[in-house]
Amino acid sequence: MTEAALPDAEASPAPILPLAGDRPTFVGLSRERLAALLEQAGVPEKERRMRLSQLWHWIYVRGAQEFGDMTNVARQLQTHLVQHATLARPEIVREQVSADGTRKWVLRLPPRGVGDRGAEVECVYIPERDRGTLCVSSQVGCTLNCSFCHTGTQKLVRNLEAWEIVAQVMVARDRLGDYPGRTPPEGAFVPKDGGRFVSNIVFMGMGEPLYNYANVREAIGVLTDPQGLQLSRRKITVSTSGVVPDIAPLGAETGAMLAISLHATNDALRDELVPINRKYPIADLLEACRTYPGVSNARRITFEYVMLKGVNDSLSEARAMVRMLRGIHAKINLIPFNPWPGTQYECSDWAQIERFSEVIFDAGYASPIRTPRGRDILAACGQLKSDTEKMRARARLMLEEQLALGTD
Ligand code: SAH
Ligand code: SF4
Repeated sequence: MTEAALPDAEASPAPILPLAGDRPTFVGLSRERLAALLEQAGVPEKERRMRLSQLWHWIYVRGAQEFGDMTNVARQLQTHLVQHATLARPEIVREQVSADGTRKWVLRLPPRGVGDRGAEVECVYIPERDRGTLCVSSQVGCTLNCSFCHTGTQKLVRNLEAWEIVAQVMVARDRLGDYPGRTPPEGAFVPKDGGRFVSNIVFMGMGEPLYNYANVREAIGVLTDPQGLQLSRRKITVSTSGVVPDIAPLGAETGAMLAISLHATNDALRDELVPINRKYPIADLLEACRTYPGVSNARRITFEYVMLKGVNDSLSEARAMVRMLRGIHAKINLIPFNPWPGTQYECSDWAQIERFSEVIFDAGYASPIRTPRGRDILAACGQLKSDTEKMRARARLMLEEQLALGTD
């Protein structure tokens, strides 16, 4: 396994400005970064505070795509801003809508230098009866090679900037028309209280969010700003494979909900499935959960458990899980394994998943099986892997086949 974390943003020598072409985009930025760019663009100091709150409102509440739409910003300043910045979002490479209303977007991020064509990430919108959840990516690919996860096999890896995480939410809201005066698209979750179609965020897309903690924290700050996107901290869930040292800071500094990718009830098996376990074993992980800041009966930690046939799905393992979670405010989420080409695993039989869930139900946990969504568009957990990567793999495979056949 590759254990090394990518450099955290805090440790990077210089923050990378969010470039879209040669002008920075304002979309996805924190107040501090936006203020710095306004200063850079020459907006006088005495005006800056007021301009910042105007821009903030237009960008995050109204979803403005042009400076010219900002009717209360002086025309002269609008023209000036156009020369210095944009309101560009990442490019949508592909949009897919599943028969069940799930939507998946493949986004291309701005190139970061000569020869870079721009990395791709995916985000997925899952409308349910009581919520509209956006599953966002925190990295391009992932350095951790969990043996059952497709993202972990991706070669190209980099941390997303905070703005690139927030921009995924902006794109989803754009495409759903999730702004004042909106008409809901078919299949979207429409809250009765006039709230947002995107009501919840889960960091369960590509990447390990706690290997990019500083950017994830900054992004959560923007997402929860009370004058901006206004998402509730309780409706943001960060899923981790178990980067123990960053779990307490996550709770203390962001107030986000925590999900743990558990997947095994003993260290030997977890070492194999979730290799970061060799560094942070189950006992340390559970201790971090027991003391997670803000955890309570009403704010439980979700334990994710992928159901792998003949690997981790025996009833004695279900009982072991119940025992080991005793004393922790926990919810359990059983995830039917989503197969991908080349995987060595199979999903447990449905009857076995039900038996497993009954043991958990009898121990007092409610409805623990996660219904797979968007299977027809490969939007399910662990299936996110950039298309460029997939195309390269396909091309490699074709080449290998040709070489084996002795043709060119
Ligand atoms: N890196 C983080 C978050 C992204 S993965 C983490 O590991 O928690 C989100 C969830 O999908 C995790 O629980 C992960 O274990 C699970 N997952 C990965 N591949 C899967 C697959 N093929 N089928 C089902 N769940 C999978
Ligand atoms: Fe990375 Fe999570 Fe996949 Fe493991 S399950 S490889 S941590 S994205």
